Amino acid sequence: MIKQRTIKKSVKARGIGIHSGNMVNMTLIPAKIDHGVVFRRMDVGGKLIRAHNAFVNEVVLSTSLENKGVKVSTVEHLMSAFAALGIDNILVELDSFEVPIMDGSSAPFIFLSQSAGIEEQDAPKNFFVIRKPVKIQHKDSWAKVSPYEGFKVTLEIDFEHKKVKESGQKLSIDFAQQSYLKEISRARTFGYMRDVETLQRRNLALGASMDNAIALSDSDVLNEDGMRYQNEFVKHKILDIVGDLYLLGNNLIGHYEGYKTGHLLNDQLLSAILDQPDTWSLETFEEKDSPIKFYSEDWQNSL
Ligand SMILES: [Zn+2]
Repeated sequence: MIKQRTIKKSVKARGIGIHSGNMVNMTLIPAKIDHGVVFRRMDVGGKLIRAHNAFVNEVVLSTSLENKGVKVSTVEHLMSAFAALGIDNILVELDSFEVPIMDGSSAPFIFLSQSAGIEEQDAPKNFFVIRKPVKIQHKDSWAKVSPYEGFKVTLEIDFEHKKVKESGQKLSIDFAQQSYLKEISRARTFGYMRDVETLQRRNLALGASMDNAIALSDSDVLNEDGMRYQNEFVKHKILDIVGDLYLLGNNLIGHYEGYKTGHLLNDQLLSAILDQPDTWSLETFEEKDSPIKFYSEDWQNSL
C-alpha cells in the first residue's frame, strides 16, 4: 500500500516574514499517523491551527489560516513543498504569525524536509480523489477540478507586463511526467516594485526584497541575476496552486484547470468541492494499481 509520510527528525529554519518584516523561527517536527499538517504558535501559548480549508480566513495577498483568533499567514509555499513530498503528518512550530518567506519559492522547504529525511508510516495514505467536475467562476476568471488518473495542473494567467507575456502565460504540468522539484520548486513570487512601495506605506510587504521575489519595473525584471526559469511567473502560480490545493487535507488526484486564478478563487473552489460530498472520495491505493504515477519521481527519490 501507499503509506502516510512524516519527517525523520526535527529541523529548524529562520527567516524573515514577508509582511511583518520580523525574523521568524520555524521548527518542523515529526508527527504521528493521521495527525495532518498542523501549525503551532509558540509566541501565543502553543495554540494549534490545522492546515485545512475550514480554517482559511484571509486570501488577499497570501493564504492565511485562523483558529479562534490565532492566525498563521503565508502558508502556501510551505504547503506546496509538503504536497510535493507527500508529507501527511507534521507539526510546524512558529514564533510569529507568518511562515518565513525564505527565497520566495518552495525550494528551501523542500531542502529542509529532505535534510530531515522523509519517513513512511505504517498506515495507508488517503488520497482526495475527484469524482465529478466542480467549477467556479468570478467575472472572467475561473477554476475547475475534474477526474483524472494522476495529478495535473493547467493554468493560464493574464499579467499585463512585457516580460511576463514574453515568457509564456500558459502551462500544463502533469506531475507523473514532470518533476515538481526540478520544474516548479525554484519559481519565485513576483510583483511590481511600485506595488511594494504602496504596500509598505500600509505596513505590508515590509520584508519584501529582491532576495525573496522577482521585482518588476514597468517593462523589465530588476533582479540582477534575472530569472531562474524562462517561464518562472506561471510556474510560481502553479507552485501556489499546489500549496492551496493541499488545504483539502490530502494529496489530490484530479486535474486542476484555471484562468487568472488566485488564492481567493482557490479557496472558493475548495469550499465548493468540500460542500458537495458526491464530487469526491478519500481512497487508499496499492502501489501496483495506483493512478499515482502522480509525483512518482519526486516521491521515490525523496525516500
Ligand atoms: Zn506564491
